[in-house]
Amino acid sequence: MQPQRYDMFIDGESRKPAGGEWFPTDNPYLGTPWAEIAKGTAQDVDDAVRAADRALRAGPWAELTASARGALLRRLGDTIAANARHLAELEVRDNGKLFTEMYGQLTYVPQWFHYYGGLADKIEGTVPPIDKKGYFAYTKKEPVGVVGVITPWNSPLLLLAWKIAPALAAGCTVVVKPSEFTSASTLELVRLFHEAGLPPGVVNVVTGFGQDVGAALVEHPLVRKVTFTGSDATGRRINEAAARDFKQVSLELGGKSPNIVFADADIEAAVNGAVSGIFAATGQTCIAGSRLLVQESVHDEVVGRLVDLARTARMGDPMDEATQVGPITTPAQYAKVLDYIDIAREEGARLVLGGRAADRGGLFVEPTVFTGVRNTMRIAQEEVFGPVLAVIPFKDEDEAVALANDSRYGLGAGVWTTDIGRAFRMADRIRSGTVWVNTYRAVSYLTPFGGFKDSGIGRENGIGAITAYLADKSVWINTGAPTGNPFVMR
Ligand code: NAD
Repeated sequence: MQPQRYDMFIDGESRKPAGGEWFPTDNPYLGTPWAEIAKGTAQDVDDAVRAADRALRAGPWAELTASARGALLRRLGDTIAANARHLAELEVRDNGKLFTEMYGQLTYVPQWFHYYGGLADKIEGTVPPIDKKGYFAYTKKEPVGVVGVITPWNSPLLLLAWKIAPALAAGCTVVVKPSEFTSASTLELVRLFHEAGLPPGVVNVVTGFGQDVGAALVEHPLVRKVTFTGSDATGRRINEAAARDFKQVSLELGGKSPNIVFADADIEAAVNGAVSGIFAATGQTCIAGSRLLVQESVHDEVVGRLVDLARTARMGDPMDEATQVGPITTPAQYAKVLDYIDIAREEGARLVLGGRAADRGGLFVEPTVFTGVRNTMRIAQEEVFGPVLAVIPFKDEDEAVALANDSRYGLGAGVWTTDIGRAFRMADRIRSGTVWVNTYRAVSYLTPFGGFKDSGIGRENGIGAITAYLADKSVWINTGAPTGNPFVMR
């Protein structure tokens, strides 16, 4: 079968790449290309950014009232809801994650457009009680400008929604650079948005590779803000490039999140939480609970039950609803996961489950558990982004806190305990953007999400996230201020 060809989406229409090239995108389960994606260039980025800049300044988008903008956002949410199954299938074809998970995400994504649509006409300025005679001043909030949006492959449309729903609610226009591994769902979504009445130039998509399209987008002088989710190595590069032009950035980066089980926990719930924390999504999530800290007195029981449960994981076709663990998304990621398993072995960690490619072909790695891990080992400090769990014992609360915080990351943390006081103490003491108590991986459009330390800059979700796409302006009106010495600033 001839692979389907996807062009870019610029200024409200499908656009062939300036360089006239397309690249294949693979189905990670089948290991075969299923589509061809336009290979964008700096020229395409320039076209898209200029279209976004025009739409920002004049035309139907710029002229919409805030309430009408909100109504349009809600309509975009409804469009996603009506196409959730189709979009989820595209994502599974591209990233190999379970259909049940991607469909669950896609039926939830409309909430971001409904929520931020509701906020669009609640963006208000202030009238400060000005302290100088003869003046009136007011403040207003304006869209920050054209936003460059760069997304990863693991949850393409969910993470896109976290960025573009508040950006559009704020009145910005955007140019999206999806991951080169998962571009199809973003292109399809944006095509559907235009069918639903989104004016041209408001959301543009330039597909292609990070070093070409991503870098050109970050460096484009008309882009005033960059919002990025991906690895910390790329985040650092983007931050440095954006800083050269004083662009604002929001960065959602990696993690090495601790999932902490106290002896007083409901052990069955904790074991379930530990398994889903690391093996759901085949560990390919930024908030994977990849370090399991277990209090010494229950260590062996927790590990025993965890291994028994993880051993039962059904690997297979991600479209099959009975499958529990899907393939790794890319060959490079697959090689990286296997490398880390070797590194952990060499460092002296004890392999108690998995530890190899699954003997079923394709990019499958068995759920893997290492015990006897010291927090200084690379397997405890570096993000694997795969189904590999490092188990670390601890004595008491202080040691659990010290181990949890001994990381350059600070994205998520789980605490399993039945002691309510301890739950609050741990939530206070752990340096991470989210702390889950007796649960793991819950996220919502209502709660800020982001990282401390190397896990990023800024927060997405919740009311505050919209401020990342707004710039304050102060306006002064002279209502009869006394004139003084013109050479003295007042
Ligand atoms: P990545 O950093 O390799 O790529 C992310 C995006 O950046 C892609 O679109 C890529 O093309 C682009 N890119 C690459 N080089 C670039 C450059 N020089 N300039 C501009 N753009 C460039 O990340 P990935 O492998 O796609 O995603 C996995 C990573 O994402 C993991 O580290 C994971 O922890 C992180 N992640 C974080 C969150 C979060 O919210 N904190 C969520 C999901 C994933």
